[in-house]
Amino acid sequence: MPEIKPYYNSTIICPVCNKQIQVTKVRSKFVKLIKQDEDFCPYYESINPIFYEAWICGNCGYAAHSTVFNNATTNDQRVILNKLKGKWTKREFSGERDVEKALEAFKIVLYNLQLRSGSFSEFAKICLRLAWLYRYKGEWVNEHKFLKFSYDYYKKSYTGEYLKDGKLDEYTCMYIIGELARRLGNNEEALQWLGRLITASARADEKGRIPPVILENTQNLIYDIREAQKKKKMSGTEYDNKKTS
Ligand SMILES: [Zn+2]
Repeated sequence: MPEIKPYYNSTIICPVCNKQIQVTKVRSKFVKLIKQDEDFCPYYESINPIFYEAWICGNCGYAAHSTVFNNATTNDQRVILNKLKGKWTKREFSGERDVEKALEAFKIVLYNLQLRSGSFSEFAKICLRLAWLYRYKGEWVNEHKFLKFSYDYYKKSYTGEYLKDGKLDEYTCMYIIGELARRLGNNEEALQWLGRLITASARADEKGRIPPVILENTQNLIYDIREAQKKKKMSGTEYDNKKTS
């Protein structure tokens, strides 16, 4: 019997050029989550399904997150075909991916979003994944750069579109903005966003709308930030004492 691989190719029709293409998917039974960071960056025992979330048509260059790949509008179709005409080198993107290949694929998705002026929430999601990929590689400067992009896009989508499109609820969005602010070293702003969530949870009509895991994560995060601030204050005091003694 041939060995079953953790990934397999699936044939789909590209919604932009209408050609048959192959995308690679991961078999769920091989996906074993070990842990998640506070911003939901996941770590897996072996195969990482995040690597396969960026789908690309090797024929025309259209690319999107797998969950919205088929949502290309006729306007997107026109824009992508026009703007990539003569610029795209046909190539294959199916098969096993390592972190480098995943980075390349997500950057093509990001480029596509720029071409077709994607929504803030799409930009935010793709930039967050790029930050995670750099985190896996231990490249802090690049991770920080994409965390900042993601943070800015989440804030824009929170004030603009998020609440309407309903894909990510208001409170998960609030939590992510708070967590990204913390990661970017802005604890005061993080506490403001997380504090708003806690305030909302005190209202009976709102509490039911907050996913329990988000509320729990928020409480943990506020605790961690306060502890870090206390420690910083204490070490600052020690330093002051040494200076004056
Ligand atoms: Zn295509």
